[in-house]
Formats: sequence, C-alpha cells, structure tokens
Amino acid sequence: MLEIRDVKKSFGGLTVLDGISLDVEKGDVVAILGPSGSGKTTFLRCLNYLETADSGSMTFDGEKFDLHSTGKRDIARLRRKTAFVFQNYNLFLNKTVLQNVTLGLTSGMGMDKKKAEAVALEMLEKVGMADKLQNYPNQLSGGQQQRVAIARAMATNPEIIYFDEPTSALDPELIGEVLAVMRKLAEDGMTMLVVTHEMDFARNVSNKVMFMEGGKVVETAPSKQFFENPEEERVKEFIRKIQ
Ligand code: ADP
Repeated sequence: MLEIRDVKKSFGGLTVLDGISLDVEKGDVVAILGPSGSGKTTFLRCLNYLETADSGSMTFDGEKFDLHSTGKRDIARLRRKTAFVFQNYNLFLNKTVLQNVTLGLTSGMGMDKKKAEAVALEMLEKVGMADKLQNYPNQLSGGQQQRVAIARAMATNPEIIYFDEPTSALDPELIGEVLAVMRKLAEDGMTMLVVTHEMDFARNVSNKVMFMEGGKVVETAPSKQFFENPEEERVKEFIRKIQ
C-alpha cells in the first residue's frame, strides 16, 4: 500500500533523517520505536507534509508523492488519504466535541451538516464519547480529548492514520483507554503508523516494528521477531533493557 523511500531531512547542520525507507501493507500496524531524538516524529511529520523533507518519496496505492514537494495540490491530494493524531490532541478549544469532528467534514470535504453530524456521532460512539457532544475540550480529561481526536481522524475515512506519541502527554491512568481505542481500530483493519514508547502496544497490537536511532533504521521486523529474536545487536540491547 505504501512504499516510503529514502527520506532525508536536516535542520540546519543536524541530519535528523538519513535515508529512511519503509514498506507498509494494508492493515499493518507499524510501531516506530527508538530513543528520544532519533527522528521518529520528524519522519512521521514528513509523511504527511507537516515537515518538508529534503528528499525522499512515497508511493501510496500506486500514486507517487515527492516528499520534498511544497505544492498545495500534492499536499491536498495526500491528505485526502491520511489523518494525523498528535501528542497534544490539537482540538479546537472554542469548538464542542461534535464540532471538532464535523468541521473537517463540512469545511474540509464539503459534506452537508446533517450527514457530517451522523458520521461524527457514529465515530464518537466508537470511541465512547457520544455522551459529551456539547462539551468543550477543556471540560474533558486528556484521555477523553485524545479519543475525540481519534474520532476526528477516523471520520474523514482515511486509508492510514499516523499517531505521534498519542499517549505520552497523558497521566498513567488515562493511557489505557486511549490504547484500547487504538487496539479496536487495529482489529477493525485500519492501517496505522504509531510513534510510541508503549511496549505492550508494540508487542501485542502492532504487527511490525521499525527501530530507529540517529536518523537511521536499525531494524524493521515483524513484532514477534523483533521482541523475541532480533537480528541487530543494538535491538538486542534495547530488548534487554526494557525487560
Ligand atoms: P524523536 O521523535 O525520535 O524523539 P524528533 O524527530 O522529535 O525525534 O527529533 C529529532 C531531532 O531533530 C532532535 O535532535 C530534535 O531536536 C531535532 N528537531 C526536531 N524538530 C526540529 C525543528 N523544527 N527544528 C530544529 N530541530 C528539530
């Protein structure tokens, strides 16, 4: 479904991505792991044109995207297929839960208001937030806000959802409810790329792991193999430390 090739990115003199490639099949849940500062978030952001890569490409269902492009048309063409869930939820604070989910459908996709509300309600039911339609984000917990953000991502019917450390801003007791929603999405067959430090998620929900360090891919492997029988010494060391 997705062939990501040789993504490079520097900030000033600092090389943050030094040629990252990854293949993603439909229904894959890929956990992107690695130490802080290894380039995981930057990689994910480049894939959705939230950062402009210095070079690299992505073929999405046979359609090619130059990740160095800054063309509005390319960006719009790609974002029709994708959705992004941020660490800090990025909800509109002056909009209700319902409006947060419908806005992308009405202004973004030109859907009429009634239809958008029906879609939003369906998605908010899936994440267990249908009883908070008229609440504002600051009346919700972090876990609830993130579940609304996931409903908003799902509502546009994307082919893939990118998650950038979706639980790392949450209090420990709220992490589980967000991971449960993500697990359900994965079970429903959604293709997901997830930058995370949640090893249980990487081990039990994702089917593929990409481990990065210093802007390079150290190893990409099926999750079971990654955790039980990794090839690279660096990954073996990582596994020893988290056990
Ligand atoms: P990770 O997600 O693995 O923690 P990041 O992709 O966030 O890593 O960051 C990789 C490196 O790039 C870090 O050294 C970070 O400071 C740097 N970096 C990220 N974004 C920017 C930016 N907008 N400007 C300058 N440096 C940045």
